[in-house]
Amino acid sequence: MRIVVLAGGIGGARFLRGLRRAVPDADITVVGNTGDDIHLFGLKVCPDLDTVMYTLGGGIDEERGWGRADESFRVKEELAAYGVGPEWFGLGDRDFATHIVRTQMLDAGFPLSAVTEALCDRWRPGVRLIPMTDDRVETHVAVESDGERKAIHFQEYWVRLRASVTAEAIVPVGAEHAKPAPGVLEAVAEADVVLLPPSNPVVSIGTILAVPGVREAVAGADAPVIGLSPIVGGAPVRGMADKVLAAVGVEATAAAVAEHYGADLLDGWLVDAVDADHVDRVEAAGIPCRAVPLMMTDVEATAAMAREALALAREVRPA
Ligand code: GDP
Ligand code: CA
Repeated sequence: MRIVVLAGGIGGARFLRGLRRAVPDADITVVGNTGDDIHLFGLKVCPDLDTVMYTLGGGIDEERGWGRADESFRVKEELAAYGVGPEWFGLGDRDFATHIVRTQMLDAGFPLSAVTEALCDRWRPGVRLIPMTDDRVETHVAVESDGERKAIHFQEYWVRLRASVTAEAIVPVGAEHAKPAPGVLEAVAEADVVLLPPSNPVVSIGTILAVPGVREAVAGADAPVIGLSPIVGGAPVRGMADKVLAAVGVEATAAAVAEHYGADLLDGWLVDAVDADHVDRVEAAGIPCRAVPLMMTDVEATAAMAREALALAREVRPA
């Protein structure tokens, strides 16, 4: 079975671990979000690609959910001693090596997709990880501060400001001219099922879908497209997705996120058991919907979610 997953960082990575457990023999292609990418200290940092790579490769810091296990921050301390920031973005010593290797390869002329493949040679994530595009896309957030409207990098909004100022618009800068990375459209076209994990619908999956051709390919795929809600009981399970949903005029509920993706994209939607009362609304929008446990408390619980998603795929599109 060929499965394509459009993934952000922590939510996507944790789901993928469960999916791998649920279908160990499946051929899984992950299209990763690169809208979170940022240049720091002269290095290209790809937080979502790395979260997927480290999580599936066994190198993640489980507690934080990002960065390397057994990490130290001595380089960052030394940089701070020179007054060189930003101090608000956590880059650990072990993590630095990844960004150095990536930047060297990019500078040598390799596209990000080839670089990601090379990094995965070490991590063996058990999936094929492709960035959504080899072109530069950076999500910016329009905010109003001191009566002035300005656009800031997504990481500044998310990590430095903890989404504490109102986001008025989310703009994936560069997306309109970006091309899907080699293999992305092919994987979608050949997939038996496409899954939208419980990743951020705006700044993770929304950004991937903003690359011209991707949304069209997913919506038009022969394969059923099944999504899992990142919103449970009217709030994100983790993080501040409600803030970026508000910026695009979507309420933070499991049903509203399904409607936001739309019946043209989704062939099925899973909401958490606590949101069982949302099922009728989602189905009224033309999207088959089931309520099942959606808390990724451990790998086995997550594998059960993946099985439910695949079961719904078979139900809506019997082979
Ligand atoms: P990020 O790039 O690290 O922010 O990660 P993603 O975009 O892949 O995923 C973030 C989303 O994962 C958040 O909106 C969370 O609500 C969601 N999430 C995290 N843990 C869980 C969980 O256990 N269950 C569900 N349903 N969603 C989760
Ligand atoms: Ca992210």
